[in-house]
Amino acid sequence: MEGLIFSVKRYSVHDGPGIRVTFFMKGCPLSCRWCHNPEGISSLPEKTSRTNRVGGKSFIKEEEVGKYYTVDDILEICEKERLFTDRSGGGVTFSGGEPVMQPEFLLAALKALKKKGFNTAVDTSGYSPEKNFREILPYTDLFLFDLKHLSDDRHIELTGVSNRLILENFRLLAREAEAVMIRIPVIPGMNDDEGHLMKLRDYITSVNTGNIKKINLLPYHKIGSSKYRRFNMEWKMEGVEPPAGEKMKQMKEYFSQTGIKVKIGG
Ligand code: SF4
Repeated sequence: MEGLIFSVKRYSVHDGPGIRVTFFMKGCPLSCRWCHNPEGISSLPEKTSRTNRVGGKSFIKEEEVGKYYTVDDILEICEKERLFTDRSGGGVTFSGGEPVMQPEFLLAALKALKKKGFNTAVDTSGYSPEKNFREILPYTDLFLFDLKHLSDDRHIELTGVSNRLILENFRLLAREAEAVMIRIPVIPGMNDDEGHLMKLRDYITSVNTGNIKKINLLPYHKIGSSKYRRFNMEWKMEGVEPPAGEKMKQMKEYFSQTGIKVKIGG
């Protein structure tokens, strides 16, 4: 069995506790306007080119984005970094794209990593059948769960899909997962109005059973915008600027009222 992965990041410090190895899996059922990993959306390998400049000359380098890995490949990569992951209280994270879109491979990889004593995390949009979440629950120490918008209509408008399945899975994990960290992308003019923030705060408070350990507020940034050209995709965020620091501080105060630790950034 193989999984399609578009990037492997060693020494990652933003995808869960400690130092981690993060596997970015290809394929995502959402198409968020602000996505900074658009190369993770298609569930097939893609060809692209990159222009490199050396000594005033330009060279075009062809690249294949997305490579198949076996579970043994995953274990081999993680064993090499074990000293750092173990000593820092870190582990291994599956992100994307949407890792739960490759459920069989993800389950097999998580089982194998747990058997070897690795701490495991899954960074998810929550959009996958409940059965897939139930299966990976026993082998996942931490879920990083994105909450984008509580209004279904607005969620469809911004991400292309309904939030119903996402919220059902969120409630499941808030009841049954060992630990959950919520990630809220803060997108000016799209999900940061006061009315929505208050609803989101109250929703999180009502669902929390004590295992939601942290809320990360992730300010929108434009770092991924150049990738849209490379992948022939339309950049729909023209004119949207990152949120002001003051706004982020205000949001931190709102969400602190849930009683959960809040951090600005990953
Ligand atoms: S869920 Fe994440 S990976 Fe998928 S489109 Fe949205 S931001 Fe991109």
